[in-house]
Amino acid sequence: MSIVISKEKQAGDLINDVQKLSGIDIRSCLQCKKCSNGCPVTGLTNVHPSDIIRAMQLNVGDKIFNSDLIWMCASCETCYARCPMKINMAEVMDALRVLSVQKNGPKQKGNVPLFNKSFLRTVKMFGRTYDIGMIAAYKLGSASLLQDTDKFPMMLLKGKIALIPSFQADKKYTRRIFGRKLGNTQS
Ligand code: SF4
Ligand code: SF4
Repeated sequence: MSIVISKEKQAGDLINDVQKLSGIDIRSCLQCKKCSNGCPVTGLTNVHPSDIIRAMQLNVGDKIFNSDLIWMCASCETCYARCPMKINMAEVMDALRVLSVQKNGPKQKGNVPLFNKSFLRTVKMFGRTYDIGMIAAYKLGSASLLQDTDKFPMMLLKGKIALIPSFQADKKYTRRIFGRKLGNTQS
């Protein structure tokens, strides 16, 4: 998708809300595009990290929530490592996700909601992610039982996936996080 900039005045002030939530000075972006050139998911989206920043600078308003990148960002922080202005896009994306939910933004597309739900369910149960449980829930829900299974034995052999969940996490702390309501950014 592309972000269309209209001449109409947009309600609200998204850039300030994002800055308040993330603590990042978005207006300092130079549009050098080093973030976009290093981002591993831009091949899957039409909007790049630098486009997201530019759209906020130009005050496109809530249309920004239509961008798939907000939900597909892997929080790898490659962009942050490359940015001369030290703009942490992973935190900017976190803030945009929070605001999208608060403002009843567009629903996430494809299997993204199912993946997020499967991930959060294991974190809620064990206090941290449990890969096998998450993969099983996702595959059952998406009816893609055999997709990517060829990679599974090698990942298991290299210890990239644990067969048994970790029971080390502080579950009380996790319960507090899940019980917390999203904060109001207007205050
Ligand atoms: S690398 Fe930093 S300064 Fe350059 S476009 Fe991306 S966010 Fe802006
Ligand atoms: S943190 Fe997100 S936006 Fe930045 S490089 Fe990684 S995937 Fe791309």
